[in-house]
Amino acid sequence: MPNPVKRGRPTVEDVLQVGRSTVGDVLQIGRNTVEEVLHVGRSTVEEVIQVGRNTVESARQLRQATMQAAVLHGRQDIRIEDVPVPRAEAGELIVRVGAALTCGTDLKVFRRGYHARMIVPPALFGHELAGTVVEAGAGVEGFPNDSRVVALNSAPCGQCYFCKRGQENLCDDLLFNNGAYAEFIRIPARIVAKNTLIIPDHVPLEHAALTEPLACAVHGFLDSNPHPEDTVAVIGGGPLGLMMVHVAALSGCKVIAIVKRDGQVEAARQLGAAHIIKSSSIQKSIRETRALTPNNRGVDIAIEAVGVPEAWEEAVEMVRKGGTVNFFGGCAVGTHVKLDTNRIHYSDITLRATFHHTPAICRKALDLIASGRFQAGAFITGHAHLYELNRVFEKLMNRSSEIKTAIVP
Ligand SMILES: [Zn+2]
Ligand SMILES: [Zn+2]
Repeated sequence: MPNPVKRGRPTVEDVLQVGRSTVGDVLQIGRNTVEEVLHVGRSTVEEVIQVGRNTVESARQLRQATMQAAVLHGRQDIRIEDVPVPRAEAGELIVRVGAALTCGTDLKVFRRGYHARMIVPPALFGHELAGTVVEAGAGVEGFPNDSRVVALNSAPCGQCYFCKRGQENLCDDLLFNNGAYAEFIRIPARIVAKNTLIIPDHVPLEHAALTEPLACAVHGFLDSNPHPEDTVAVIGGGPLGLMMVHVAALSGCKVIAIVKRDGQVEAARQLGAAHIIKSSSIQKSIRETRALTPNNRGVDIAIEAVGVPEAWEEAVEMVRKGGTVNFFGGCAVGTHVKLDTNRIHYSDITLRATFHHTPAICRKALDLIASGRFQAGAFITGHAHLYELNRVFEKLMNRSSEIKTAIVP
């Protein structure tokens, strides 16, 4: 009788053998299938990317001919026109504008129809912007396509007497750039080299666009010789006045905001003012400001951020002995003020009148925005398309409670 155990073993072995081959086959087939699928998948993705690239490229090519841009033709006359898309020459960048912010200077230009130093119509205008790089000219480094950048409105020469002394804001040959209210803007080589900054990923473009006005405010504040816990009066509740209030409060100063309108009261409070005086009477606001200081002695620093002679004079009257006044608001050409020379001399008052910004201050301003301490969102109170620009400025002229409107072209 054959041994059933012996007979059983080959069978088991056979079965195992067959089983092993089958698993091996299946694994092999499986592997091939996966490989094929991966391959097909890869090709498809590659194709999609390629098609995407071509589409973007052709979109750019199509756009190359013209773009929509705001052209200032004169007083309160903005027209949205098809103009040639700028191309990057050596050292230049073309930026797709992501957000362009309205500004007091632009409002002045809109009202007057020109700007002595910056704009002679017909001209593109707007100068507070952030966006993404779409083209770089020969020799540009550090700004690949799609970089998110804030390009400042000016850059100093770096060669003149003032630049060499670190007073680049006073550069004899300050180069200005305008044209932010448009789909694309050309950034001149000097601004690319000196005043174009990469925006950290977590900072929205419209917040980064605040770099320019904030740089002016930071510059004006630092120029006023501040110490922590100083009492600082800020006259004026416009965009720059409110920025000054916020910068001073963030630096640990006690801020008295002197404003005219209800909307400004709320904004000043939110941005850190310890006291808010709402008054249209200069004498009254001087009295009330002094009353907030020990023995009515006056504030350590008074910053004028309106740009009218009455406010310049008011600032001098509310500061303490040995204090500092900063005439931060620029008045119309040909304006004169009356100041009490005795008061200035015997009270040893320092008078400053800070203008514009320097490359170093611009970097500080963007750092402050990126820090999250600065409430960038509070300054942008509206959004509008390029086509609404006239209406936006008309609204700003009518003293609405808007601070800044982000134009999204
Ligand atoms: Zn501005
Ligand atoms: Zn210079």
